[in-house]
Amino acid sequence: MTYQHTFEDGTSCALPAGKVVCVGRNYVDHIKELNNPVPTEPILFIKPATALQSFSEQIMIPSYSENCHHETELAVLVGEKLYGADREAAKKAIAGYGIGLDLTLRDIQQGLKEKGLPWEKAKAFDGSCPISPFLKPDQLPDPQDTVLKLTVNGQVRQEESTKLMMKGILDLMVYMSSFFSLMPGDIILTGTPAGVSQMNSGDQLELELDSRFKYSVSVK
Ligand code: ZN
Repeated sequence: MTYQHTFEDGTSCALPAGKVVCVGRNYVDHIKELNNPVPTEPILFIKPATALQSFSEQIMIPSYSENCHHETELAVLVGEKLYGADREAAKKAIAGYGIGLDLTLRDIQQGLKEKGLPWEKAKAFDGSCPISPFLKPDQLPDPQDTVLKLTVNGQVRQEESTKLMMKGILDLMVYMSSFFSLMPGDIILTGTPAGVSQMNSGDQLELELDSRFKYSVSVK
């Protein structure tokens, strides 16, 4: 099914499905759980538009991996072009907030990391970014202090406030737009808190944003 952005309130979204700009290691507790060094600057990577799918579609783990991890992240929908933006321009350009999964083939990523190679095979596969409908900005009064929660088969795996981000949403957008344009319809994934772990065929995932917006998705 072709992915199209949607809004939580049912209004249509004319923005095209663009790239997904992601940040690695933006929560200290997650950096520690994978024994990674704390970065001095954000680590950026990009998933193509073909990574996007809605939660109504099942998650498909690629056959070349034995270990697909969930990373639960606050997603930001970009509504205006940003290049060399300041915080004010970044704030004005936000069209919505959602919750998404940065699916990561941890075994493949580990092999790439050891060789110093880019992460796309581990992170940019089709369907590697399942994502919710977007809240309008006024539906999420404090995006920098809202709780992201993921349960798998009824067990809480991830539950953390976005206030623990090392670099906040607007600073991330400023940083990203200093290297390349953020375009209308692009999505930003803001990093995962601790609790990443393996998903298996048949798992039932429940995602929750701000204790109010709940979504389910299953792993095929
Ligand atoms: Zn991530």
